[in-house]
Amino acid sequence: MNKILYLLTTTLLLAAALTVRAGEIALTFDDAPGGDSYLSGMERTKMLVRKFDSIGVQQTAFFCVTDRLDQASGRTRLMMYSEAGHMIANHTHNHPDLNKVGAGRFFTEIVRADHELDLYPTQTGWFRYPYLHEGRTRQVRDSVRKFLVNNGFSNGYVTVNTFDWYLNKLFQTTVRQGREIDYDLLRDVYVDIIWSGILFYDSLAVRTLGRSPKHVLLLHENDLAALFIDALVERIRTEGWYVIGISEAYADPIADEIPDVLMNGQGRVAAIAAERGYKGPLRHESEDTAWLDAYLDSVGVFE
Ligand SMILES: [Zn+2]
Repeated sequence: MNKILYLLTTTLLLAAALTVRAGEIALTFDDAPGGDSYLSGMERTKMLVRKFDSIGVQQTAFFCVTDRLDQASGRTRLMMYSEAGHMIANHTHNHPDLNKVGAGRFFTEIVRADHELDLYPTQTGWFRYPYLHEGRTRQVRDSVRKFLVNNGFSNGYVTVNTFDWYLNKLFQTTVRQGREIDYDLLRDVYVDIIWSGILFYDSLAVRTLGRSPKHVLLLHENDLAALFIDALVERIRTEGWYVIGISEAYADPIADEIPDVLMNGQGRVAAIAAERGYKGPLRHESEDTAWLDAYLDSVGVFE
């Protein structure tokens, strides 16, 4: 009898260990400060800051495009994020695509943004490539990498890419057309899609690194983030994961593992997987506008 109980307990513990892996993830928001849309920029910022505070998310990062500072009270809003403890980071002055512009123009953009962001108390040297594009050739890629190191910047990489920007675009169109929106359904869809992306990149990491790294989630500073960030964080926690500060996430060893590949558009985990010769898919199915259109159609959002 005791032996059976022992076996049963062991089996249950083993099953629990296999199914529950407490992942960790930090939140980041690109293209701040966004303009006025369904929410005004100021409403969006107030909503985000208030929600972070009420759900105990203490440190996220905003990757800023500084030619947008003068729109929609942008400067004031970045100061609000900064004073609430969130990090202010560099995403260039005008969001150029390194796969299209030369390295020289890119350097100017980075330096200009760095100066513009100087006054924010939580400014950091993290730099995130627009579109996550690190250059089409090794020569361009390596010259920018060298420039970043020489000038005290580090790569504000992501490990989980999302198409939240596309969902937000469809949302804004639906609002403009005056069509009705089922916000509960939209929230569930937003949360489900992002959560399944997190699971995808985590399992890719476990398969290629042999462990679950501290993740960095890519979102944008848009209305859907403001409307649903609390629901997303609740889901992450309900699944047994922890939302951690971005500084802690960037202390993970993969911060120093710079993949020697040109495939960089899906973030660091995918790039490391590519470097190690992983043959399976390197992007989640939801990083595809046609897939999203069909999925949203099937669940009846934005009809
Ligand atoms: Zn961007």
